[in-house]
Amino acid sequence: MEYIKARIRDVKDFPTKGIIFKDLTTVFKDPRALHIIGWDLSQMYRDKGVTKVVGIESRGFIGGSILAFELGAGFVPARKPGKLPADTIRMEYDKEYGKDVIEIHRDAIGPDDIVVLHDDVLATGGTMAATYKLVKSLNPKKIYVNFIIELTALNGRAALPEDAEITSLIKY
Ligand code: AMP
Repeated sequence: MEYIKARIRDVKDFPTKGIIFKDLTTVFKDPRALHIIGWDLSQMYRDKGVTKVVGIESRGFIGGSILAFELGAGFVPARKPGKLPADTIRMEYDKEYGKDVIEIHRDAIGPDDIVVLHDDVLATGGTMAATYKLVKSLNPKKIYVNFIIELTALNGRAALPEDAEITSLIKY
């Protein structure tokens, strides 16, 4: 894990003043770090019968795809509004300034699915909470929640249901 941590780049005041952005591009560009990420993420879900991984646009697409590939599961994108071409369902949620929307294809997940929701960073948890509700409405058998990084000071876990099973590789 030290190998990964050493490659996470802190970018001050991005995208706005006061934010320290955890940049994972410096992890993903390193072949060994990318391999470790795929292996470590998948180890947490090996015996769970996962059928689909939902990656949240856009940074969640990277780790989510790797995780799906490692688990032999399918990959499903959760996207910003208007990006998905077929019939979608949507969930609106509050952001620091104004509202945002997340969408998923209506036929992407069904009652036989065991799903992992993945994003790169857990901050306030708003984005993941909305995605959780969206996927829940499609009635899968089980939903797990996963991040590469968890910013514990922001207590994003509180935004998610109490019984949600949440894992993160690295906590700050
Ligand atoms: P959240 O506040 O948990 O809804 O986070 C919103 C989105 O922004 C998530 O997709 C996170 O990956 C990303 N994000 C929020 N804060 C940071 C941060 N400090 N560094 C990197 N990504 C962040």
